Amino acid sequence: MTPVSPAQQPLSIKMHEADNVAIVVNDGGLPAGTVFPSGLVLRDKVTQGHKVALEDLPQGGTVRRYNVPIGYAVKDIPAGSWVHERLLDMPDARGLDNLPIATVKPEPQPPLEGYTFEGYRNADGSVGSRNILAITTTVQCVAGVVDFAVRRIKDELLPRFPNVDDVIGLEHHYGCGVAIDAPDAIIPIRTLRNITLNPNFGGEVMVVSLGCEKLQPERLLPPGTIPIMDERNVADIGMTADAGLDVVCLQSDHHVGFMSMIDSIMQTAELHLEKLNARRRETVPASELVVGVQCGGSDAFSGVTANPAVGFCTDLLVRAGATVMFSETTEVRDGIDQLTSRASTPEVAQAMIREMAWYDAYLEKGRVDRSANTTPGNKKGGLSNIVEKAMGSIVKSGSSPISGVLSPGEKVQLKGLKGLVYAATPASDFICGTLQLAAGINLHVFTTGRGTPYGLAEVPVLKVATRTDLARRWHDLMDINAGRIADGDATIEDVGRELFQFMLDVASGRKKTWAEHWKLHNSLVLFNPAPVT
Ligand code: CA
Repeated sequence: MTPVSPAQQPLSIKMHEADNVAIVVNDGGLPAGTVFPSGLVLRDKVTQGHKVALEDLPQGGTVRRYNVPIGYAVKDIPAGSWVHERLLDMPDARGLDNLPIATVKPEPQPPLEGYTFEGYRNADGSVGSRNILAITTTVQCVAGVVDFAVRRIKDELLPRFPNVDDVIGLEHHYGCGVAIDAPDAIIPIRTLRNITLNPNFGGEVMVVSLGCEKLQPERLLPPGTIPIMDERNVADIGMTADAGLDVVCLQSDHHVGFMSMIDSIMQTAELHLEKLNARRRETVPASELVVGVQCGGSDAFSGVTANPAVGFCTDLLVRAGATVMFSETTEVRDGIDQLTSRASTPEVAQAMIREMAWYDAYLEKGRVDRSANTTPGNKKGGLSNIVEKAMGSIVKSGSSPISGVLSPGEKVQLKGLKGLVYAATPASDFICGTLQLAAGINLHVFTTGRGTPYGLAEVPVLKVATRTDLARRWHDLMDINAGRIADGDATIEDVGRELFQFMLDVASGRKKTWAEHWKLHNSLVLFNPAPVT
């Protein structure tokens, strides 16, 4: 595909008929004096992805994109001008009263049948896309020891278990020095618990604990939280097996010397590797996909190419009976009325409002609001403010009714939810990814315009570039190029279908993402709104 060069026809994209701004598509932007096919003449140089006024905008007048007011002109803006953030006053956030509740009833789409993938079926009914031994930790203190053990397990044990994809330590900064009884501490605790039970880990739970930490293993994983555990006599290798939980406790009297700890972890790991190694992929319906979608490093093309393609794919997944979750509270806050109206029931709409209200209060404690979300990179990429960013972000959710809401750290399978689900999370890429892991995803889709090498060790991350220029420069980091939509080489539907097929291939292990290929893994970052002591 050949991207459009400035020497070629000047191109702009208007998202809705009623919009009075459009964005410049051409690589490298367009110089002042450029004449568009419509006759519009650029008064300023406009960078790629930035907005141009399609008509004279009077001072105080509404600037519309996505048929939504993204701001009010601070002075007269003549047609053909560059419309940047300093020319716009941002609208106030919509209040949470008198919202439309479950008013939109989208036409039911025909079910999409016959699509399957090869996955690992778990005892709890969930399906994994990878077969990974995850070592849970209760506290950051043990991270170095777990790292050391994981290296040895990979070198010495893993080659004997060819059906196991990887061994990872679930490391984090929580566990000690925290107000563990504070009401909001439930968020990091259930996040860790539910990540431990992610479908990609096959229910083979083992824990490394220090011993004196606030987050004791029984608090992290109370009896009954692990679906299937067998009876084992493991006392002789320095573990406690209370309530069926395999715990290696470093402070146990049993351990004399560092190698004793490492031996215990390795022996425990070997028992679990044997069980994981016996698992085989089997053909399962596409309805077993649990996909988390998010964006990061967004630009003005995010909401034009990649996110709409993901939205189309979201609708395909929902039609196939799968579960898709969208998140990033500060990036949907400005579209709350669209979301409450799309809720399948009044209860779902109220749950959505509850999450927004909780987050408004959380931000207020820090004396900021949702406008603190936008980054210098977003603005450089043409996104003037959070309203414009949010409108482009929400489209990842497609057009299906919203069937449920998760609070941060909750797990979709435990709530019995299917279809399109709102999983409330901050928009921070790693925190959102960590909470979506807890929510039970077996695939993660990530769109980016500025570019980020983001990846997770726990589930495959499929990355979608918003622009051809990025896809070309980062050809071995981006999996799908949605920039072809702006180039006129593909439609939103084309890229959405391509993504859907790629998901089935990746979930089946037939294909790897670039992040998997290079083993690019970001840390787990827990959302802890509770006090640290
Ligand atoms: Ca994000």
